[in-house]
Amino acid sequence: MPLNKQAKMRIASIQPLHASAADPNSSDDALRAVRRTRVPIWVYDIDHSRVVLANSSACRLWQAEDEAALRERDMAKGMSATVAKRLRQYQKDFIEEDATFTEMWTLYPNGEPENVMVVFSGHVLPDGRMAMLCEAVGQAEDEPQNLRSAEALLHTDVMIMLVGENGAPLYTNPAARNMLPEDGKDFQQLFVNPADHTDLAIALSATGEHRLVSQVNTASGLRWFDVSAKACSDAVTGQPAILVTAIDVSELKVARDKARYLADRDLLTGCYNRSFLQGHFNNLANLKKPPPCALVFFDVDRFKQINDRHGHEAGDTILRQISSCVQAFLGPNDLISRLGGDEFVVFLEGINSEVEVAERIKLMQSEIAKPIFQDATRINATVSIGVVLFTPADDAFADVMRRADIALYAAKEAGRDRAIHFNDDMGRAAQERDQIEDELKTALELRQFELHYQPRIDLRTGRVVSVEGLVRWNHPIRGLVMPDAFIPICEETGMIEDLGRQVLEIGCAQAIAWHQAGHDFDVSLNVSPRQFNDKHLLQTLSDLAQSPNFPSGRIELEITENVLFGDHKSIAKKLKKITHMGYRIAIDDFGTGYSNLSYISRFPLKCLKIDRSFVDQLPEAGPIVSLILTLARQIGATAVAEGVETEEQYAWLAAQNCEQAQGYYMSRPLPLDKFLETANRLNAQASE
Ligand code: C2E
Ligand code: MG
Ligand code: MG
Repeated sequence: MPLNKQAKMRIASIQPLHASAADPNSSDDALRAVRRTRVPIWVYDIDHSRVVLANSSACRLWQAEDEAALRERDMAKGMSATVAKRLRQYQKDFIEEDATFTEMWTLYPNGEPENVMVVFSGHVLPDGRMAMLCEAVGQAEDEPQNLRSAEALLHTDVMIMLVGENGAPLYTNPAARNMLPEDGKDFQQLFVNPADHTDLAIALSATGEHRLVSQVNTASGLRWFDVSAKACSDAVTGQPAILVTAIDVSELKVARDKARYLADRDLLTGCYNRSFLQGHFNNLANLKKPPPCALVFFDVDRFKQINDRHGHEAGDTILRQISSCVQAFLGPNDLISRLGGDEFVVFLEGINSEVEVAERIKLMQSEIAKPIFQDATRINATVSIGVVLFTPADDAFADVMRRADIALYAAKEAGRDRAIHFNDDMGRAAQERDQIEDELKTALELRQFELHYQPRIDLRTGRVVSVEGLVRWNHPIRGLVMPDAFIPICEETGMIEDLGRQVLEIGCAQAIAWHQAGHDFDVSLNVSPRQFNDKHLLQTLSDLAQSPNFPSGRIELEITENVLFGDHKSIAKKLKKITHMGYRIAIDDFGTGYSNLSYISRFPLKCLKIDRSFVDQLPEAGPIVSLILTLARQIGATAVAEGVETEEQYAWLAAQNCEQAQGYYMSRPLPLDKFLETANRLNAQASE
């Protein structure tokens, strides 16, 4: 049978067996009739690759001397794997379908190609196996184009089907027959999702063609196919038909889906990422009538502290847990996205009022507030939330995000663990803040900062014993800007490291100048928490301490209690290094922070500055102030009362043996050129 078989197909349709074949073992008459007929007929044993019966016309066609010689031939010799596979498929079709195929084949009887139209049908051998009855019903015109295109049709892995209007296949190429499921071969039954077939039918009647990627029922289970369909006519009947080509894209789709999943997601939590969120926003904005939405921006309160205390694994657990908590509250059109770090955005669709979103947030918050366990450790995490209501088409994504960020910032400022809705006042304040931030960069470059000086009085003698340097920004347009307006921004942005260095430089230079001029007071300078943690601080302090005439032991650095919070050992080590360089350490605003009194004694502290809020409430706050005075004595530190504004306060503190005081009662902070005058006046009054 076919060796290097080439084939061209005109029509190959699945039809009922059209004729009963000659049976080599039936009655002699029938056999004789077969042998006599002019049509070349032979029976091919697919299992053994042998011709088992051939009439003389077939022998001529195969260029065999006689039937016995043809039966001797090993037809498998030189047969390609595809042809062998296809013959197996035919055998299956004969068994299951009772099928008949009429196809143009190229036979190679002696190496020469012979194009013949052959009708193939099933033929059961005496031992029960299915063989193939072949009838060569005509010679073909040998147009190379036709022959090649037909071969392509038979050999291609692309599934090709011609489907009648009722969905029944009129023609299927071998690849399609391989793919079709055993049961139900109607076209529409192939689609797993019936809507895909409906879409296709609608598009075909509208435009005559359609293409889609669809999940399809196949002999090997559910697969994804890239399906193209074109309306056409059946070449045999002239009836309307659909020409379908389909390519199995399952592997490609799985790979693409995976790539898309990864491209859209955050790997730690499985939440969407920022670019997906933005795409989602844009899709909604492009709708004819975008729905009202809410953007809920939140981050985990004190997340850095959680990471530092419990380790990064615990931090990751918190992030995963929180995102899955929130996911449980999302509707089908809502989504959660992780922007990075501990920042998340929940995008809610169809939100019409603040009350509506507030209720949903409350539910999420109560779920998030439940303790999270990392190994045996119980961690309680809270979130701060900024909320913005908007309509996607009216507002740009960046703008909505900025507003949400401002509201989140306000929630943090208001004490964390709460949700705050954006309003326009917040927007203006944020704008102002952004402007200050920009201007501060220039101010640092141009060194637009100066110190004002406030005297500190010895309550026993009334003399000026020390002076605190307080920074002011000498703004070219705004005038003198007070520290509350820019220190927090510098802290937040890290500019405090630069500003802090400038303050230390000015303060130390001034202290040196005063001492050189014979003035006998110490100088106190403020060091903010972030500045204290700046890795360059020790170097800066050490450089300044090397300056000529540095007044060792006469410069005090004021830090706040929260600087002492954390790894006590390393903080104590750092403080020791600083004191060894010739600086003293004071605790500013004492009594307002969280310091644990039991370890205060372990730090080298020379001074406790009692916060103004206690002094302000004297004599009611008397017991607390007395307690601080006792504590200061216990650890050998000087007690300084801050914010002394009245004679009564002054007298009360002096009576309680508080050592020093600072406040408007004695003097406001003054610019350098006014300070000495005031200090001299105060000292003169003291001597009276
Ligand atoms: P602070 O270090 O506690 O400084 C004392 C603040 O209280 C000063 O405000 C001072 O003007 C004010 N004050 C002094 N006596 C009285 C009083 O009798 N009544 C009232 N109501 N207030 C009084 P200022 O200068 O506005 O500084 C505010 C804060 O800014 C400072 O508080 C300090 O925390 C920070 N700061 C100032 N200069 C610097 C600096 O150079 N570096 C850093 N990191 N922070 C600074
Ligand atoms: Mg201070
Ligand atoms: Mg203070």
